[in-house]
Amino acid sequence: MNNINNEKIVDFINDIYIDNHISEELEELRAYGEKNNVPIIHREVGEFIKTILKLHKPKRILEIGTAIGFSSIFFAKCCDEDTRVTSIEINEDIISLAKDNIRKYGLEGRINVIPGDALEVIPHLENTYDFVFIDAAKGQYINFFNAIEPKLAKKAVIISDNILFRGMVADKELMVRRKKTIVQRLRKYLNMLTIKDGYTTSILPLGDGIALSVKEEK
Ligand code: SAH
Ligand code: MG
Repeated sequence: MNNINNEKIVDFINDIYIDNHISEELEELRAYGEKNNVPIIHREVGEFIKTILKLHKPKRILEIGTAIGFSSIFFAKCCDEDTRVTSIEINEDIISLAKDNIRKYGLEGRINVIPGDALEVIPHLENTYDFVFIDAAKGQYINFFNAIEPKLAKKAVIISDNILFRGMVADKELMVRRKKTIVQRLRKYLNMLTIKDGYTTSILPLGDGIALSVKEEK
């Protein structure tokens, strides 16, 4: 239960998704993530992103927050063979696990995990990216966005995950006190994103809430 959507409806939708082949191949990794409280992308968020990837066909994907590699592997599987994923992860302990998983799925040639704080790593990246997934420290989203901006290709698509933060961003009654700063920063991020010149953003109550932003062609 994440306080945002009706559980019965989400379960109904996800039961329909469960049998498609990418989902099925990743079931073991999803089960591991769920059992070990790794916050991997919600199934319905993954399925939505899959549709965006099929439509947008990015060649270079940047992810902030690898964890065990679930979403990196999922994105690589949704795209053509020549699509490369660069994923940044700050927690050294989890990186070896991510790399093992990436190898297990035979994707070591397509997914590159860079250790470090995304805010320090991103300025050194040489490529531009046509799809970016922001899914790391929730209090840092404005900083992550500012960091990736110079690295965005024309018409880039950016998806920010967990922007409703278990509903706390929208509903004061759900607020847990020690999360106050994160919640305030996420609200600020959403306000910034939706009025930002050169971008169009939709806020969607999918999973834990996502923002879908498109860089306009200039
Ligand atoms: N995208 C993954 C889940 C990521 S969980 C999936 O859906 O499968 C968020 C991850 O972000 C954690 O592993 C955490 O260690 C990492 N993280 C937090 N702050 C970070 C930062 N500043 N730079 C890079 N990674 C960070
Ligand atoms: Mg997330």
